[in-house]
Amino acid sequence: MADNEELIDYEEDQELTTTTNGASAPAAAQNGAAAAPAAADGDKKNFTGIHSTGFRDFLLKPELLRAISDLGFEHPSEVQQECIPQAVFGMDVLCQAKSGHGKTAVFVLATLQQLEPVNGEVSVIVLCHTRELAFQIRNEYVRFAKYMPEIRTSVFYGGTPVAKDAETLKDKTKCPHIIVATPGRLNALARDKVLDAKHVKHFVLDECDKMLEQLDMRRDVQEIFRVTPHHKQVMMFSATLAKEIRVTCKKFMTNPLEIFVDDETKLTLHGLQQHYVKLDEVAKNRKLNDLLDTLDFNQVVIFVKSVARANELDKLLKECNFPSITIHSGLPQEDRIARYQQFKSFEKRILVATDIFGRGIDVERVNIVINYDCPGDADSYLHRVGRAGRFGTKGLAITFISSEADQDVMNQIQSRFEVAVSELPAHIDPASYSDLP
Ligand code: ADP
Ligand code: MG
Repeated sequence: MADNEELIDYEEDQELTTTTNGASAPAAAQNGAAAAPAAADGDKKNFTGIHSTGFRDFLLKPELLRAISDLGFEHPSEVQQECIPQAVFGMDVLCQAKSGHGKTAVFVLATLQQLEPVNGEVSVIVLCHTRELAFQIRNEYVRFAKYMPEIRTSVFYGGTPVAKDAETLKDKTKCPHIIVATPGRLNALARDKVLDAKHVKHFVLDECDKMLEQLDMRRDVQEIFRVTPHHKQVMMFSATLAKEIRVTCKKFMTNPLEIFVDDETKLTLHGLQQHYVKLDEVAKNRKLNDLLDTLDFNQVVIFVKSVARANELDKLLKECNFPSITIHSGLPQEDRIARYQQFKSFEKRILVATDIFGRGIDVERVNIVINYDCPGDADSYLHRVGRAGRFGTKGLAITFISSEADQDVMNQIQSRFEVAVSELPAHIDPASYSDLP
């Protein structure tokens, strides 16, 4: 079987060919049901303080409520309150909500609630843009389906033997009810008629703007979509949803519930302190060293713009005795997952990453993000820094600015999100960016 999706490495795309929305239209009044209550969302306790709704009000199956309680989720976040009540009734959902505010649980709970598993039938397809994110989402399904032993979930992505996925799909006793996948691999399985998508009832795109803006991925998504039944629930999620891409998203949907953050200032994470440092390229290593020596980090992600730079920087950090690892598309896939797991489980505290780690990845203890290389556009900045400050925790983001192009991106960030990204002060009180155990 041709494994040609491997040829397309659409993960470290466009280092410089950015997809900037240029002068993105100022927030205009929006349509639909997005009249979000203006809840203050700062630190974690606000999620609990302001809303009185509980997960019980969503009338979920007892198996799900038990799992939710085991996970220690006390109250639904704002986005969960806005979406879950309609999503569990099969309504289409197009949802933009801030990083780290629990979008995953919206579609995981909504699909598990509705799922009636039939052996040999795939009921749910979830697509996302990177393999590590697919792996992570699959694990979320496993956690929430803890008390639903009859439900099988599989994850499929490139860089692994496709024959194994085919075997899983062909065997009725192994065939998953829920598939989480990257589009290239799943489309290959669909093309080869190994995937039978005739019984799919729920179709989910996480990081939907990313998947639909990038043409190769969009083509794969469309081809998979086309082999699923016409009548199904479609849900899409992202922290960034420019006006232009919403139109594309809605082409896949019927009368969706639309939740947008049209005032982009609201995308700012309140627990997150943000700074920049202007310096020459050659001064970056020295500065990074200083920061790692002086900052109080639980875990830190350092973003760079290419595989080569990731390897170089990781090597250098190791030589300086920092406990660092790196993750990027130049590694064998098992290695990538192994490293993701090491970092997620707190075995490693410093991760040098390319943009494959920039979106969706959820590592609770990350309290600092350093953009060693400034991101190519404002959206990608927002996603990267959102790796710190998950679910309302505190965090710190520092961006190195070493060229005019970097400065342009920083200006864009400042004006679009109206965040105060200020020059890095000589000293920062650790209590201001660290509230993790
Ligand atoms: P998003 O996709 O919106 O960026 P995630 O779905 O990755 O955010 O969730 C971020 C983190 O918050 C995860 O670790 C998740 O387990 C946690 N989380 C989600 N919902 C809740 C909740 N209601 N209570 C406590 N923690 C939650
Ligand atoms: Mg997410």
